[in-house]
Parts: sequence; C-alpha cells; structure tokens
Amino acid sequence: MAGATLRTIDYSVLQQCMHCGMCLPTCPTYDQTRLERNSPRGRIALMRAVADGALDVTPEFAAEMSYCLGCLACQTACPAGVNYAELFETARSDIELNGAHRGFTRRFWRAVTLGFLFMRPRALRLLGRAARVYQRIGLEAFVRRSGVLRLAPPALRRLEPQTPRIAPRFSDALIKAQEQPAAPPRYRVAMLTGCVQDLVFSDVNRDTVDVLVANGCTVDTPPVQPCCGSLHAHNGDVRRARTLARRMIDLFPPDRYDAIVSNAGGCGSHLRHYGPLLAHDARYRDRARLWDTRLRDVHEWLVEIGCRPPQASPFSGQTTITYHESCHLVHGQKVARQPRALLKLLPGVSLVELAESSWCCGAAGIYTITQPEQAERLLGRKTANVMSTGASWVATANPGCQLQVARGLDAAGADINVAHPVSLLARAYRREQSASVQ
Ligand code: SF4
Ligand code: SF4
Repeated sequence: MAGATLRTIDYSVLQQCMHCGMCLPTCPTYDQTRLERNSPRGRIALMRAVADGALDVTPEFAAEMSYCLGCLACQTACPAGVNYAELFETARSDIELNGAHRGFTRRFWRAVTLGFLFMRPRALRLLGRAARVYQRIGLEAFVRRSGVLRLAPPALRRLEPQTPRIAPRFSDALIKAQEQPAAPPRYRVAMLTGCVQDLVFSDVNRDTVDVLVANGCTVDTPPVQPCCGSLHAHNGDVRRARTLARRMIDLFPPDRYDAIVSNAGGCGSHLRHYGPLLAHDARYRDRARLWDTRLRDVHEWLVEIGCRPPQASPFSGQTTITYHESCHLVHGQKVARQPRALLKLLPGVSLVELAESSWCCGAAGIYTITQPEQAERLLGRKTANVMSTGASWVATANPGCQLQVARGLDAAGADINVAHPVSLLARAYRREQSASVQ
C-alpha cells in the first residue's frame, strides 16, 4: 500500500462526526476566522466530500489542510470520539499523492528533508555539525548583517532567524549505549533520542537517562537511531513513515523492554500508533502492536513506576514555575496529569497553572514556516499567558514548543526560562547528590 487516501479509508471514521460543534471553541484556526471551513467540523465535511467523490483534492483543499495546525484539540473535545489524527494524516497523504501542493521549491525541500536528511541519521548529524560551525565561527552573524538573506526564497528568510542553537555534543557523545543503576535494576527500558531533540536538546536526553537510572531502570540508548517517522506521517509521506517504523522496531525489539521511552510530545504521539500504521504488513504487524503497548511518554512511565521524590530543590530559592502542554502530549497522547505530578515532587517549587495551557503555541511542526502570521499570533497569545503567571520558569515537553515558547519570551524581553520537566527533576537529583557528598 503506497499511501493512504480518503477514498480508501475506513468510511466509518468519516461518519463518526455528528456535527455537534463541541470542538469549535477549542480550535485555534476557527477561533481566528470564525469560518466553518476553518473548523474541525468543516474540515471533516470537506474530507468526506473527497471520500464521496463530490470534491477533488484541489489546491484549495490542500491549503485548508495546511492551515490546520494538527494540534488535535478538537479530538480531545469531541464527544463522539472522532479520530481526527487519522483523518488529518490521510488527507495530507492524499494531497501529496494528488500533487495538490504545487511548486518546485516545495518539492525540492521535501525531497531534501523528508526524502534524504530525516531518512539518514548520520547525514542529519553531519548537517547539525556544519550548522554548529556556521553558528560558532560568526558566519551566521555575518550573513544576517550582510543582508544577503534578502535574496533567499521567502520560506528560507523566515526559517533562518528561527534556526536553533545546535548543541555542542549530540546524544551519542553524552549517553552510553547501556547505563545501569547502582542497585539491581527494576526495569529495562529503551530510550529514544529523537532528531531535533538530539541536535538541539541532547542535554534533555542526558537528563532523561539520569532520571530513569535514578528510578531503577537499565537504559538502552543505541548511538545511531532512525527518525521515528512522525514528521513524514504528519506531512503526508506515509510510505516513508512505514519504512522508518520498521527500522525502529528492528532496532528496539519490543519484547526486550518493559518500556520504550520517548521524551518528545510530538514524536510520542506518532510512536504509539505503529500498530495501525503497519496493520497491512504481515511481517511487522504483531511486533508493531506489541510496540504500541510498550511505548510510554517519559512522564507517564515515571509516574507508573512511582518516581522517587528528590530531596533537594533544582533551584537555590523558592521558585514559581508554570507548565505549557505540548498539543501532541496532551491531545495526542492524553498525558496531562503526569508532568504536573512530577513537577509537584520538586521541593521548593510552586506550580501555578497557565491559562490556556493546552492552546497551541504555534510551533506545530513546520507551521511557523508555512503559516507564519497565524503562528506569530498564537505565540503572542501564549507569551502573554506565560508572563501573566508571574512564574520564572516554564516547563514544556516537546522540542518544538521549547524553542517556540523561548523565542516568544525572548522577543518580549521576559526573564523567564524554559525547560523540560525531566531536566528539572534531573537537576534536583544532582543537587541532592552533591549535597549528600558535602
Ligand atoms: S487539529 Fe487543531 S487546528 Fe486542526 S481542526 Fe483540530 S483543533 Fe482545529
Ligand atoms: S465535536 Fe466531534 S462530532 Fe462534534 S462536530 Fe466536532 S468532530 Fe464532529
């Protein structure tokens, strides 16, 4: 099966929508325009029209699906249990199969990113190293000052200032292939290092392994890991998403582990659905189903095994923090309680709730490039909400959110730090350890 289409999807998924409109107030694009076609209900109606053969997969249909953030807030709100994630990914796959997004530049960048870089982890790291050199030797600053970027295509001009700082060392240099707790291990887990997470937030991966080991887990972290395929699936490339899912299952045989742990909300949301993705593959479908039962978001796993409360605060004084929810963690994986529970374990920390904590920050994969105005509006709203809490730290568990929220706070001149919840836990354990040796 080359790719999913709306005309071949199980029709009952499309029929589930009963047009009640309960999802409308939760949809950021409908909130912006108040147009039915920009709402979940309107988009599902369009998808059904395509499935029925009443509408072709046109550039207009493609533009509508591109305006959708894929945040899945509608899926949480829906009383009928509509699987919007499946519909959305199928629609995007159909759009690619029909070539409804036109333009050579787009095709070129898709081939470079989805077709090449995110299929070859070593090439991605090589690019990461080159980007690090570009940033460190002052070339980046020179290019920005020179104005040469004015000649670049619009998407590249928008992307360049958002290029994150590349980490000095990646996960393979920070984490051993296997790490063991001092006491006899209680669990054996696999650690997924991700792509962006590996290049930009390898320290978060290191922190995650520290916290897992501190909680009695033997952690396997192969130094070279394929992309999980979430980027491909969200962007309509189902064929490559399946190839990558098979590679992941080969690398991490699920019967070997008590849990396969992801610390990135966006990746985890895709990773826990390998079963449906490989349902047509006789060689992999049983292992894919088993994989789904073993996949855990790191917060979920730590709460499940009874995370040990640290005895020291991650900070030197009483600190107020707030929590921004990654869409794909809260809506895609339904993990909302556990990150808060872990943050409440931190001594000397008060957790204040963030208004609209589960409202998308505008990161949404490549949304900041494809829909820059809407992404900026959402970021402005998120930044104002974070600032109004009075917190000095905001915790969030997805690399895209971490970068986006930090960018918004930086632009607003706010002195608020952004961190993954697990990094705060790791910091508390380290301070506990250094206090005990003094
Ligand atoms: S995924 Fe988000 S933006 Fe898209 S229809 Fe659902 S709520 Fe609206
Ligand atoms: S809440 Fe669910 S059933 Fe109601 S309109 Fe939205 S998608 Fe359809």
